[in-house]
Amino acid sequence: MTVATKKKVHNYSAGPCILPQEVFEQAAQAVLDFEGSGLSILEISHRSKPFEAVMAKAQALVKELLGAPEHYQVVFLGGGASLGFHMVPLNYMKPGGKSAYVNTGEWASRAIKESKLAGETLVVASSEDKNFSYIPKGFGIPADADYFHLTSNNTIFGTQWKQFPESPVPVVCDMSSDIFSRPVNVADFALIYGGAQKNMGPAGATVYLFDPERTGNTGRKLSPMLDLKNHGSKESMYNTPPVFAVYVSMLTMEWMKKLGGVAEIERRNSAKAKLLYDAVDRLPLFKGTAAAEDRSTMNACFVMRDAALEPAFDALWKEAGISGIRGHRSVGGYRASMYNALPIESVQVLVEVMEHFAQKNG
Ligand SMILES: *Cc1c(COP(=O)(O)O)cnc(C)c1O
Repeated sequence: MTVATKKKVHNYSAGPCILPQEVFEQAAQAVLDFEGSGLSILEISHRSKPFEAVMAKAQALVKELLGAPEHYQVVFLGGGASLGFHMVPLNYMKPGGKSAYVNTGEWASRAIKESKLAGETLVVASSEDKNFSYIPKGFGIPADADYFHLTSNNTIFGTQWKQFPESPVPVVCDMSSDIFSRPVNVADFALIYGGAQKNMGPAGATVYLFDPERTGNTGRKLSPMLDLKNHGSKESMYNTPPVFAVYVSMLTMEWMKKLGGVAEIERRNSAKAKLLYDAVDRLPLFKGTAAAEDRSTMNACFVMRDAALEPAFDALWKEAGISGIRGHRSVGGYRASMYNALPIESVQVLVEVMEHFAQKNG
C-alpha cells in the first residue's frame, strides 16, 4: 500500500497545526512498519528497546535544541498544558505559600484559576483592560512568592514577550505556542511547559522541561501522576507515555535540528512575521490588533477596518487554498498562525491575496 499525498493547503491553524510534510511521511511509514520491525509504532510496547530509544532521543532533543543545562529533566505527559496549569502550583507552591502571575490572556487566566485552587495567587500585572492587546511592563514580582508564572506567547490575542522580566523567584513559563520558535535561556526558568500541538508535534503530549533542584520542594503530598519529579526520575515512563505523540514530536525535533536549530528557525519565523505584518501595516484596509512592539511572530491577529468586506475577503483566501485564518471569537477578524513548519511561500500567498483584495476594494 502507498500512502496518498494530500492537496496543497496553506494551513494557518492555531493548533493542532501544520507539521513538516516529511514528518507526516515518516510518521505514516512508522504506523505501517516501525523501523523495519514488522510492527506498527501503534502496537509496540513502551518498554521495548526501540521505544526507549525514541523517548531518550526526544528528551535529549528538547534539551539540545533549547540549550538546557545538563541536569534539567524532560518529561512528556498527557493532559495538555491545561493539566499543567493544575500541576504547576502543586509542584511549586508551598502549602500556605503564594504564587505570582501575569494575566496576558485566556490561557494565562486559566492558569491563574488553577493556582487559586491551590493557594494565594497574586496577579501582579494584567492587560485585560485593553482586551489583552499588549504585554504589561514595569511591574514588580514579590520576593516572597514561591514562583512567578507567565505565558510566553498569547495564542489567542497575538502578543508575545520579547524580553522576559527579571524575577527574584523561580520562573515558570507556559511556552505552548512558541516553544522552539526562538532561543531562550533555559537556566532562567525553573519550568518550561507546553502542549505539543503547536510547534513540537501532534496533540496528545505535553512537554515539561524543569530544573529538578527547584521543583517539588513544597512538602506537599502529591499523587505520583501529578508529581513532576516522580515522572522525571522514571524517565517519563512512570505510566504509559503518549507513545505516538512522543514519536512524532521526536521526528519534528529532528527536522528542526536538521534545519539548523532554533536560531535558524527564529530567523525564518522573523522573516515570515515581517512579511505579513508589513502587509497589515501597509494596506489601509487592514489593522493589527496587538501593540506593535508586542506582536507575536507565531500568531498575527488583524481585523478589516470595514467588517462588511469580510465575506468577500474570505471567499478570496479560501479560493487561494488558505485555511484556518479566521480569528478567535474573543478577538474577531483574522489570526494567521505561522508556526515553525509553515513555509514562507504560504505567507507570500496570503500577502498576495491581501494585496489583490486591497487593490480591488481600496
Ligand atoms: C493551546 C494552548 C494551551 C492549551 O493547551 P492544551 O494542550 O489544549 O491544554 C495552553 N496555553 C497556551 C499558550 C496555548 O497556546
